[in-house]
Amino acid sequence: MNIKTLLPVLALALALGVAACGGSDEEGAASAGGGDDGRRLAYLLHFGFDGLVGLETRSEAAELEGLEASLEVDAGDGPVPYRAVVIAQANELDGDRRAALEEARNAVLDERLNPIYRTALDRAHEICGEFGWSSYAAAYAELRGIDLERLRDQTARFLEDTEDLYSPLVDGQLVRAGLPALGGLRRSDLPRFFRAAELDDRFPAARLVESFESTLTGLGIDVAGQENVHLDTESRPTKSPRAFCSTPRVPDEVYLVIAPTGGRDDYGSLFHEGGHTEHYANTAADLAFEFRQLGDNSVTESFAFLLEHLVSDPDWLQAQLGVGDPEPAVEHARAFRLVMLRRYSAKLAYELDLHGPSADLERMPERYAELLSGAVRVPWPRTSWLADVDDGFYAACYLRAWALERHWRAALRERFGERWFASTDAGEWLRGLWRNGQRLNADELLAEVLGEELDFTRLAAAV
Ligand SMILES: [Zn+2]
Repeated sequence: MNIKTLLPVLALALALGVAACGGSDEEGAASAGGGDDGRRLAYLLHFGFDGLVGLETRSEAAELEGLEASLEVDAGDGPVPYRAVVIAQANELDGDRRAALEEARNAVLDERLNPIYRTALDRAHEICGEFGWSSYAAAYAELRGIDLERLRDQTARFLEDTEDLYSPLVDGQLVRAGLPALGGLRRSDLPRFFRAAELDDRFPAARLVESFESTLTGLGIDVAGQENVHLDTESRPTKSPRAFCSTPRVPDEVYLVIAPTGGRDDYGSLFHEGGHTEHYANTAADLAFEFRQLGDNSVTESFAFLLEHLVSDPDWLQAQLGVGDPEPAVEHARAFRLVMLRRYSAKLAYELDLHGPSADLERMPERYAELLSGAVRVPWPRTSWLADVDDGFYAACYLRAWALERHWRAALRERFGERWFASTDAGEWLRGLWRNGQRLNADELLAEVLGEELDFTRLAAAV
């Protein structure tokens, strides 16, 4: 047994030991032992359990990784790498070819990948049972310290609250993008819609990195002078096309990597990853490892969404990119965000069914298509019922982060004005938040800083 195998087992033993002597079990592991010691052990338990599931399903993960990187799909006009299908759809003007690519990809997914996904899912479910949890959903509700059922109710309410607003908002933007309205739209059209090629001239590649650095300067943060932040913006042939943030050591070594190509999506992802980068880079170095590297990712995602939101803020668009008429970019972003929020609300409801104690897995492809089609109002293929599932209910972090971001943004505007992004005092306030790393979860941090509770009705009202 090597150290990698021992680590998660050790973490489990430690945390279970504490839960047994102090914990109440209604509130789950997050309360075990209480205070910071309880939090550290709860975060370590989550980390250890993820590691254990990862080890037990590593051959499936490696097989999926290898196949996804090597398989090709053919829509009748030549092979396209499996992973390049979404990019091809985003850049394809012909809706029928987008649909043909989707069909070809789904056939490969169904035949080659789904059986492997299914083996991994069964094993993960089994492990939760071996540890005494009634289901994978029960395990992760406890490990994350999140009441997932309550979150499902809150997001179901969000779906109801945005029901009437959804079609007019999204249809307006679809028409503007030259795509069919809801009712005629196919899932294969969504990458084209998200790509928003018609907005490219407002988001030039040449201004991407500069606008990020100058936004942070406005907040009083000199990115070039941050010795712990490594900005990798050079274009290399083998570089990942997506921006990402890598954190070997928080806060001492944080990387922000991007291959700038421009466009709305590229700006959104650089600022999103830049939000993670600054959160980690400003985390206090004297916090315990668990509070610097682990914890509730709803917190770091909320700061990522906060910076990402700037690229659809009319004042920011005017100030940083000199956009004379920001309305098209602002409205596209509203529609995009609402599609994502409704999609993730449906995903959470589905994942709770899929991972629940009485899941009938044979019915799940249909359930998946039903919930996603209902929320997004696009006929949703069943095929991705396994591939479109986030490990360990990560979807819950995104949903909570969207709600939390709304609270941060409202507080920033109230304290520092509409143009808070150009205020060094706002930067100081944010750095005060970032110092906490992820010691507190989203609910605790929000209660401590603003005395508020995560509010999904406010999120719906602000769409
Ligand atoms: Zn993120």
